[in-house]
This record gives sequence, C-alpha cells and structure tokens, in this order.
Amino acid sequence: MKTIPLSPPAVPPTARSLLDCSPQELAEVVKALPHQREDAGGRAASVPAYRIRQIQEWIYKKYARSFEEMSNLPKAMRDGLAASATLTPLTPVEQRVSKAGDTQKVLFQMPDGETIEAVLMLYDQRRTLCISSQAGCAMGCSFCATAQGGLRRNLTAGEIVAQVLFFARYLRNAGERPKMRVKRPTTVTNIVLMGMGEPMHNYKNVWTAIRRLTAADGFGLGARHITLSTVGLVPMIDRMADEGLQVNLAVSLHAPNNALRSKLVPPSRRYPVDDLLASVRRYIAKTNRRVTFEYALMRGVNDNPSLAEDLADKLHGILCHVNLIPLNPIPDSSFQPTSDRDTQRFAERLSARGISTTVRIRRGIEIDAGCGQLRNAAES
Ligand code: SAH
Repeated sequence: MKTIPLSPPAVPPTARSLLDCSPQELAEVVKALPHQREDAGGRAASVPAYRIRQIQEWIYKKYARSFEEMSNLPKAMRDGLAASATLTPLTPVEQRVSKAGDTQKVLFQMPDGETIEAVLMLYDQRRTLCISSQAGCAMGCSFCATAQGGLRRNLTAGEIVAQVLFFARYLRNAGERPKMRVKRPTTVTNIVLMGMGEPMHNYKNVWTAIRRLTAADGFGLGARHITLSTVGLVPMIDRMADEGLQVNLAVSLHAPNNALRSKLVPPSRRYPVDDLLASVRRYIAKTNRRVTFEYALMRGVNDNPSLAEDLADKLHGILCHVNLIPLNPIPDSSFQPTSDRDTQRFAERLSARGISTTVRIRRGIEIDAGCGQLRNAAES
C-alpha cells in the first residue's frame, strides 16, 4: 500500500472552489480579481463570456490541474486565480489497484480533513466510476461499512464533480500512475453514485453535480450514463421523477418484506416496502425508465428461496431489473455472503418468474473496494 504525503495548501483557506461555481459565479470570481479592477480604472470590468467559456473548457474538457496550464488566459488572470481560488478540493491520500489490475480505489482528503472514496472499474467496453455523495452516511444499513461511522457531512457539488475529473484526467494521461493491468481507455463512460453516502439525503448538491456533469459546457456526459442509487427515500424518488434528466434510478431493496427490510435498511421503517414500490411505479409511469433493484445476498438472512418468490410477486408488472450482489463481508459484522451456488439458485428463481436478473461480479475485494471499507481501513 502506498501513502502519498499531503502537501500543505498553497492557497488561503478562504479560497473559492471553482468546481462549486456556476458559470455566473465563475464570472463573479473573475470579475473580483485585482487585475480586472485595474483594467477598469478602479471599477470592476465586466468579464467577456468567452473568458468564462475558456475557463470552463480548461476545467471540464481538459481537466486542468493548475491555473498555470490555462495558457490562453492572461498571465495576470492566471496568477489572480491561483491566489484566490482552487481547482480541486480533493487530495488523493491513498491509491490501490486490485490484483487483476482492473479496479482502482482512491481515498481522497478534503480541506477540512474529512475523507471519501471513489472506485474506477475497467471493463471491456465500459469504464465505470463509483463516486461518493457524502462523507459517511446517516442511513445506518446494518451490513454497510460506511454506516459504521455515521454521517460526517454532505459533499458539495464541487467535491462530487472533482472525483470524476480526477479519474477523467487519470484516464486521459496514459502515463499517469498507478498503472492498471488492463488496457486503459481514455474516458469515463459511466458514473454510479454508489460510493459513500445516500445521494438523496444530499439531494440539492447531488443534482447540481449531475447537471454540471451532463451540461454541454460542463463534463458533457449523457445523463443515461449516470446511475443514482438510493436506500429509498420516497419523497425524493418523486422529486427525481420531475428532474427531466434521463439519469438511471437504482433502489437498494435487499428484502421483499418490511419486517426483514427494516432490520437491514432502517429508513424502511419510515418508508415501507409497499410505499417504496408505489413511488417506483409512479417514477416509471412518469419517466418510462427501467429501474434497477439491488439485492445484496446475505447467508441465512435474505437468501431463502422463498424470498426470491416473494420478491418476484412484489416486482410483478414493474419495469425493472434485479441486480444480485454477493455481500462484501465487512469487519465487525456477522453478515456473511451467500454461496455462489445459492446465489445462482436465487437468480434462477427470479428469472423463472420472468424477472430480469443479473449477478454483479465482485470487484476489488482485496483492496477494500466495497462500500466505505478503504476509509475504515485507513482510520484503523
Ligand atoms: N446509499 C445508497 C448508495 C450507496 S451504497 C444506497 O443505499 O443505494 C451502494 C450499494 O452498495 C447499495 O445497494 C448498498 O446497499 C450496497 N452495499 C452496502 N454495503 C454492502 C456490502 N457490504 N456488500 C454488498 N453491497 C453493499
């Protein structure tokens, strides 16, 4: 394991994070720079729109690491920005690559010392990036490593976007370390909000980030390549249905009845399974989009074949797909993964009942790439 020492921040703590700025706010930051005021003889000159476009291009298309690189900006502007603003709020403090060389996990530190994780998974055609939406999580799922530390704080939109830009830069620059064994693609093609945190518990910042990631003058990724995974906060599912973006919805179900689900996923006490499924039906009626249900299989807990039948009953008639995930065992927990054979059987039962089902391949277990595990390992 390699730990990269942290360098002290070169900018004042009051520096503005440009990744947290809308184009209008970006214009205000530039307008407030000293040389702008000089240009106007003491008054702030207005900033031409092309300047803002140039800065956005450096950030979201060229993944600039420093203001110095922004060669088409006047030197005074670059220096002014370097003195008063930051380009990324994230410092990578630990990077791990799986033995197979296809999964990379990064632990990032934020300016206040909080840490989050993101994982890059390379497949033949896709390269999926799993990002965090909160430092920690308040949902308390009993089998999840992130839940163990509770919620530290929400991420800003910029902190969410920064995770994507970090890996976009990594993939674009073939020489960038660490090396991965599989052939390295040059762009991020899919983003899943399945890292630390509950995205719907940080709704506003998550959607600001999604809009910046999908905007033509932002990162420019198609909304259909983004998946938001939720524990099932019903009012927020209804809100997402009205966002008007084709972002995919994944719901972490893990049990077909509320008695069992409430033990695994505490928010289920407030939003019972039937209410949750009703909101999913409303979402589909509005958006016409297929929803994914995630189901982490835990031995002797939620993997009884009769539960597969119950699940098929519950999901009957819903435009959906079920993703079975063999549990990633976590420290200090009695939950164990279902065996491969029983996982297969559970999948077959669902398929036989006409439910589209896949078993998710486990990735990067030995690098603690599952669900809050790297951060916990780093803190222990
Ligand atoms: N809070 C969101 C997104 C983050 S977790 C949610 O609940 O959907 C992403 C997925 O990983 C969820 O389906 C979550 O239930 C699952 N998960 C958490 N801990 C896990 C573990 N130890 N093994 C397998 N899946 C786990």
